Amino acid sequence: MTKSALTAIHPKPLPEDTHSCWSCGSMRAAHFCESCGKVQPPVPVDYFTFFGLPPKLNVDVAALEKSFYELSRKLHPDLNARAGTQEQEWSMEQSSLLNDAYRTLKDPIKRTAYLLHLEGVELEEQSKSATEQARTTGEIKKQIVPPDLLEEVFELNMQLEELRMNKKMGEDDPALIEEIGKQKLELEAKYESLLEELKSFWTEWDAAIDRNLASDSSEERTAVIGKMVDVLNRRNYVRNLVRDVNAVLES
Ligand SMILES: [Zn+2]
Repeated sequence: MTKSALTAIHPKPLPEDTHSCWSCGSMRAAHFCESCGKVQPPVPVDYFTFFGLPPKLNVDVAALEKSFYELSRKLHPDLNARAGTQEQEWSMEQSSLLNDAYRTLKDPIKRTAYLLHLEGVELEEQSKSATEQARTTGEIKKQIVPPDLLEEVFELNMQLEELRMNKKMGEDDPALIEEIGKQKLELEAKYESLLEELKSFWTEWDAAIDRNLASDSSEERTAVIGKMVDVLNRRNYVRNLVRDVNAVLES
């Protein structure tokens, strides 16, 4: 990750600081004019900026929802049906941007992945390229077992193997199934607790953003980014593991 990627999203003027309405010339709000109500051309901004938010992860979702509905009403293409073609086009673009921004920011995981994307980290691409590589080389996709799960995963894989064999031989082992079911519940609890762990890093990130105004905190931010990536990868690992367990149980 380059330093420029890290500084890229840092305080910049919001569009309303610099633009006036194309129609009446008044100072406009970001997406529509406060004085004549006309929809304004979309400005290429990130989703946080679209909602006038700083790039922080603790988001007041109720407030976000409220501004989503307010903006939806003002930007909706149907309401602007009698406007000129150009304005209607802007209205459609703004509405679609609004929907994407809202869907991304209201969801804790999507919001985090999006912030990481703004910081130059592509989680999905990392995973996709690993899958792609596994497909072309015929290797099994390498997944690093999170150190805190090593023992459990080893144990669980042995049990799953045993269960597969049992099923193949048409044998029944209720105790084994019960044991695997118990481990699955523990993994599901782990999955939930990883979200809580992620949230504790949100708070670290937000504090670093606040401090950034006074001093350069890019090293600190890089460290928090690393921790968030780690939690998300562990969470994906646990999710895949639960999926594997379900597949064997239901086979
Ligand atoms: Zn205006």
